[in-house]
Amino acid sequence: MTNPEESSWTGDVESKLLPIYQHRHKLIEAVKENQFLVVTGETGSGKTTQLPQYLYKAGLCRDGKIGLTQPRRVAAITVAQRVSQEMGVSLGHQVGYQVRFDDCTTKDTLVKYMTDGCMLREILTDRSLRQYSVVILDEVHERSLNTDILLGLLKKTPSRGCHGRTLPLKVVVMSATLETDKLSVFLGDCPVFAIPGRTYPVKELFCNLIGPKEKEGSAYVKAVVKMALDVHTNEAAGDILVFLTGQSEIEKACDMLFEKAESIDYRYDVNDRTVEGLLILPLYGSMPTDQQKQIFQPAPAGVRKCVVATNIAATSLTINGVRYIVDSGFVKQLNHNSRVGLDILDVVPISKSEAQQRAGRAGRTSPGKCFRIYNKEFWEKCMPEYTVPEIQRTSLTSVILTLKCLGVHDVIRFPYLDHPEERFILDALKKLYQFDAIDRKGNVTTLGRLMVEFPLPPGLTRALLKSAALGCEEVMLPVAAMLSVENIFIRPGCHFSNRTVITVITTILITVHTFLYFVHKGLPEKQKEAEIMHRELAARAGGSNDFLMLLCIFEKCRASENPSAWSKDHWIHWRALKSAFSVETQLKEILFRLKQRKDFPQETFKGSKSELLRQCLCQGYFTNVARRSFGKAFCTMDGHGSTVHIHPSSSLFGQEAQLDWIIFHDVLVTSRVYVRTVCPIRYDWVEGLLPKLHEIDVYDLSNVAREEVTDEEMARWEKKRVAQKQMETNEDAS
Ligand code: ADP
Ligand code: MG
Repeated sequence: MTNPEESSWTGDVESKLLPIYQHRHKLIEAVKENQFLVVTGETGSGKTTQLPQYLYKAGLCRDGKIGLTQPRRVAAITVAQRVSQEMGVSLGHQVGYQVRFDDCTTKDTLVKYMTDGCMLREILTDRSLRQYSVVILDEVHERSLNTDILLGLLKKTPSRGCHGRTLPLKVVVMSATLETDKLSVFLGDCPVFAIPGRTYPVKELFCNLIGPKEKEGSAYVKAVVKMALDVHTNEAAGDILVFLTGQSEIEKACDMLFEKAESIDYRYDVNDRTVEGLLILPLYGSMPTDQQKQIFQPAPAGVRKCVVATNIAATSLTINGVRYIVDSGFVKQLNHNSRVGLDILDVVPISKSEAQQRAGRAGRTSPGKCFRIYNKEFWEKCMPEYTVPEIQRTSLTSVILTLKCLGVHDVIRFPYLDHPEERFILDALKKLYQFDAIDRKGNVTTLGRLMVEFPLPPGLTRALLKSAALGCEEVMLPVAAMLSVENIFIRPGCHFSNRTVITVITTILITVHTFLYFVHKGLPEKQKEAEIMHRELAARAGGSNDFLMLLCIFEKCRASENPSAWSKDHWIHWRALKSAFSVETQLKEILFRLKQRKDFPQETFKGSKSELLRQCLCQGYFTNVARRSFGKAFCTMDGHGSTVHIHPSSSLFGQEAQLDWIIFHDVLVTSRVYVRTVCPIRYDWVEGLLPKLHEIDVYDLSNVAREEVTDEEMARWEKKRVAQKQMETNEDAS
């Protein structure tokens, strides 16, 4: 008997070999029959790329789109590209993607890959997601903040005839094998569809290159390079996947690998003479997509591929042909730092479960080996059993504002899969109150409803809205855009910008010394040249305001005849600047739309024009104010009173003695706490705002967070507060 579906099947040969293929009919049935479904299967079994295609072909798009969410933007883009290719359609038509500031969909798009953040924004505009027939939450085991919130929101999915839906929304939740029972219980005991798949044994080795002492520092980068080279010279054919932490570490490791691999004498060193060259490929989030494509292509004969990746290769992307894993044991993770009261990207040891997931990547198609650079002691003493979900370790400000705007008043009893600590929720409410996004009763204000429209951190949004109220958004928009893209400054020595050339050359001509010599020789001179150029750019912006410097670079480049050449001449990443231009346009569009609202604030400005930008910034960064305390040290004013220093990359570095009050954009914690992107301010600009930082009582907030508060109750608290203040004053006096 032939299946009618089969004849119209256009899936390529490769996808028919995936474990999921055998189960497609049952899987489609399970989705059709259930409103909620949990799907689990080994990484690489075909869940992300195949399931949406199956559902599409089975006609589940008749009533709306299929949306699939990913925690990482690169994964959303890469997978959409792959699927459009498999389906033989051009990207952006039937198959498209949407990530923050990059929408590659049209009205024809029926299969839409998107970040979980984008889906959350869509729910804000349409609570019942009328455009969708199926929503697939992917990579749920990653437990990203946005995915966790989506889970809670979709748990109460709108049913037939509700909110203008004709059919109930179907929700599929996909996860690597972990925690599927918990998910099923959370979604009202929904069925779990497990895709059987085979994996091969992976030999796990502890290599003792680092121990608990190396928990901090960057010894792991060198160790990883050594390990990868050992694997390359000693092991039989098969590709290597190295897990590192972030872009700069990856590029550093690739440079080192490249240099060392080039000096291997293959006549003597390699046991397996079928492998001679090493093709070194970096893989991280902000990489250009054309470079990412290379990752998936098989290496030429006689060459071993070595992919040096962030955690993105642990579950989101599967690279075929990997037989060896080199595990650094570390990951870059956003954590709330209670010392400075901000979210900070930290390098931390991975969890044991994460380490097992990493190792598993070597056993997909044949037996493999996992080389852990750390020792057993590190495993036991430094690595936790499981990774703590993001919702339990980062600031919840944006998410809580979103929930409030969706009408979820009780943000404490919201159905969280894992409840965040109450103090994190209270912190978020406090921040929102300080920014005037919610009032003392916990209700969203007019400003809060405007703020939620921007895919930016709340402080930056508030500064932008202030500038718009004053009618001078043209100064803040570029700054906001520049702060939303990856680092724009080229600093040679930190990494090379043109990695493709180097990797390709490595493949083809391992022994072209002249090329290498040329690249390496010029380095110190180039470093100096870049530094001088950046200093000149800072001087042109007055030399004492990093935000203004960003604005000047943006404007100068946009006004130049040849912006890409201008960037190159000034040691600026053209790709980053180009995205800043696009981000600025998109922010401007949002602002334009909001300005049509009758309740959009309008104010007049008293003061000099040169102060305008800084005063607007104060409206958003008064939570990040510091005052010089002694020498080069500053003290923060948010109640934490932490000591911070200006980072050497700032144009204000070295001018500390002349400074008094400053605001800063972000913080970097190494042996010291550094602040980056800094500008000086006058105390009277923040004087009126600073008391807000200490005004609200956490007791009030925890009540506000739970239930609607009546006016009488509010008055009662107010009385209590006044009485308490009185008591404190009396105590102080006596
Ligand atoms: P899962 O979601 O179950 O982890 P995927 O659907 O992501 O599995 O991957 C299925 C297969 O598709 C894997 O073998 C992977 O290597 C391949 N694949 C995915 N994306 C690409 C791509 N961009 N290029 C080539 N192969 C890809
Ligand atoms: Mg997947």
